[in-house]
Amino acid sequence: MNPIAFDNSYARLPERFYATVAPTPVVAPRLLRLNAPLAVQLGLDADWLKDPEGVAMLAGNGLPVGAASIATAYAGHQFGGFSPQLGDGRAILLGEVVDRDGKRRDLQLKGAGPTPFSRRGDGRAALGPVLREYIVSEAMAALGVPTTRALAAVLTGESVRRETSLPGAVLTRVASSHIRIGTFQYFAARGDVEGLRLLADHVIVRHYPACTGEERYLALLEAVVAAQAALIAQWMTIGFIHGVMNTDNMSIAGETIDYGPCAFMDVYHPTTVFSSIDEHGRYAYANQPPIARWNLTRFAETLLPLLDDDIDKAVPIAQGALDRFDLQFQAHLIAGFRRKLGLATEEAEDVVLIKGLLDAMQDGEADFTLVFRRLSEEAGQDSAETCRSLFRDPVAFDAWEIRWRDRLRKEPASAEARRQAMLQVNPLYIPRNHQVEAVIEAAVERDDFAPFETLLGVLARPFEAQPGREDYERPPAVHERVLATFCGT
Ligand code: AMP
Ligand code: MG
Repeated sequence: MNPIAFDNSYARLPERFYATVAPTPVVAPRLLRLNAPLAVQLGLDADWLKDPEGVAMLAGNGLPVGAASIATAYAGHQFGGFSPQLGDGRAILLGEVVDRDGKRRDLQLKGAGPTPFSRRGDGRAALGPVLREYIVSEAMAALGVPTTRALAAVLTGESVRRETSLPGAVLTRVASSHIRIGTFQYFAARGDVEGLRLLADHVIVRHYPACTGEERYLALLEAVVAAQAALIAQWMTIGFIHGVMNTDNMSIAGETIDYGPCAFMDVYHPTTVFSSIDEHGRYAYANQPPIARWNLTRFAETLLPLLDDDIDKAVPIAQGALDRFDLQFQAHLIAGFRRKLGLATEEAEDVVLIKGLLDAMQDGEADFTLVFRRLSEEAGQDSAETCRSLFRDPVAFDAWEIRWRDRLRKEPASAEARRQAMLQVNPLYIPRNHQVEAVIEAAVERDDFAPFETLLGVLARPFEAQPGREDYERPPAVHERVLATFCGT
């Protein structure tokens, strides 16, 4: 019997798009977690996946009938420097399934062993990064942010060597596709215009079917620009810092992908960086919008030969599409922050109002997530005392609050309706870095996965106060602060 109905469209592209490679079996697969609701959504049999046969597949020890088993080729700019060949060095695409909503989704094993793209790497993943990706990607999904998902995590029973010896694990990642800006760059770097056209056509069919007609490649560029503008604005409104916005880590489908040293900001500060490898703050919180635009410019460059045979005509066409990014991003950002402040209508003064709160938070070293949450809880009261207490020196906040309450008087909604609306967009629980680190430590040092399960349960309902889970709302105490995160590759 065939447990998975694969339909592998990427594997039907020419062979130069990928390498066919089987996962390398591991010694002792042990299922840590299966995301059963996601399995159901994908039309997979969750019980089968938990059985030894299913776990073997999730560990890379057995390929199901119909699997493609390929590592895809891509290139990319990493911290601004171009590598013409990267590719899936530790990930193997099992194949694609069509989910219950008719959406095509990739199933990929991350950490499944070496591929022709591994360069000097071992093709493996350590448990810590696998848990981090599981936690943060699932939290993002619950927060309503487009993202790859985590279907399963398994321990391999083998150790991987990083700075020390660590338990090895495999993550099953689910994505609308794993096509990146870097995938386009791979073909562009080789002058392979036919490959580019095939890739672009594949992406249009798969992600942007509304792009039709003679100008479909321009429409594709515009669609990707629009998707990224919306995505990055969502990151900014929840304080998410991706950490490695290299062009090979930017999904063409507009999903958040490649959770490495990512983290959520606690205290609001625009220059916040966590990634230990981001020495110059290239991917700091406030740099994410300009970096996204920079990445999209690299994408647009790859499309030039498809936009016009005459490069001098293609460049201004691409430029026009790119120029839309700033306006679209700003519009999404302001709309997002308006919702966070309980504003259903638009006033010219709103931009200054939003900036005023962020500035007060920066000066007052206030916790980004809690400020918005307490403001929501206290929106119906005369004063926001709990919110106020989050600011080291509340003078700026006090002045701001008066302006905010004045502004609210122009809103038609009742105070209670506004409070409810704000509670729906301002999460109480985010994957705080110190909590994620504590979960990883318990798992890696003590083989204790109870904290992992608890954290996942809390983060699955980020907008709902959960009695007894107050610890998970709390910003880190000074001694708990985690200042650096690691890729673990
Ligand atoms: P990432 O930092 O995960 O975006 O990966 C950047 C590139 O390095 C990709 O081509 C990965 O496939 C490759 N890579 C990362 N870790 C490993 C590893 N342990 N073994 C082989 N390749 C790796
Ligand atoms: Mg990557």
